Amino acid sequence: MAKIGFIGVGNMGGPMAQNLIKDGHDLKAFDLVGQTLSRVVNAGAAQAASPGDAASGVDAVVTMLPAGAHVSDVYTGAGEVLASIDEGTLLIDSSTIDVATSRAMHAAAKVAGYDMLDAPVSGGVTGAEAGTLTFMCGGSPEVFERAKPILDVMGKNIFLAGGPGAGQAAKAVNNMLLAINMIGLSEAFNLADALGLERKTLFDIVGTASGGSWALANYCPVPELVPTTPANKDFNPGFTGAMMLKDLKLGQDAAKSLDVSSPLGAAATMLFSMYCNEGYEADDFSGIIRMLRGKKVD
Ligand code: NAD
Repeated sequence: MAKIGFIGVGNMGGPMAQNLIKDGHDLKAFDLVGQTLSRVVNAGAAQAASPGDAASGVDAVVTMLPAGAHVSDVYTGAGEVLASIDEGTLLIDSSTIDVATSRAMHAAAKVAGYDMLDAPVSGGVTGAEAGTLTFMCGGSPEVFERAKPILDVMGKNIFLAGGPGAGQAAKAVNNMLLAINMIGLSEAFNLADALGLERKTLFDIVGTASGGSWALANYCPVPELVPTTPANKDFNPGFTGAMMLKDLKLGQDAAKSLDVSSPLGAAATMLFSMYCNEGYEADDFSGIIRMLRGKKVD
């Protein structure tokens, strides 16, 4: 069993860390928020005093942080992870961040002599709790094979997408698609309501027809159809509107820099921007159905 440092144990990192503990790994965890950290400490992790402390004396370091600036700060800034780790430590960054920062972190790790894998995830808090996340990884095949036994504990589908940053590229594309799907699904349910269709009837028909999607089956934005969704708990996240907007911006920045046409990605970014500006940034992203309905809450 490995010694693992886990930095960032929030909505996603918390259950991911707990699955590693349950599997018998020896965990040292750190988070800026004491209450968040205490949840994994109560589950059996040792409490680290800083990111550098979590990263020293371990075989691997997993980071699950909000955005590129946090990863950069933890790796090469005040967090001092690269300055604190032992020889041979494997670095796994599962945060969703921009490709440029991810590649810069790969380069910094390489200069310092360490193996790194970017390994962002899909599957939400439910997938993190169940250990069924999809990991999309960027790095060398050798580093991927080294990380796989750890990723296997937290996920079910583990892919090597390509070289450094390729996991982040796959994640940006995936989440653009998810946002577009969720907006489409929300419009469909709102129109079906207006047309007098029963929601359960629509769910059953579309679920087996050509309009079906992962978002419909697993993340339906109306309550009482899929028991685990945020729609059943007043859109408590889950995956916040702010996180979705962050990911959409990553996709749009990439599209602009590469001159790729992305009109639906741009429209989704604009709509999630409105959602956040209207005060829903901390609600689950699927709550956008309320805004698209003209805010008439169920
Ligand atoms: P979160 O805000 O719940 O957790 C992030 C944690 O990082 C927080 O607890 C925060 O205190 C901590 N943190 C921030 N800066 C830190 C630092 N310098 N040192 C230590 N801890 C620090 O966010 P989350 O929902 O767990 O998301 C984490 C990442 O996973 C994001 O990049 C997000 O885009 C991605 N993601 C989230 C979901 C989801 O459904 N929530 C799904 C897939 C991917």
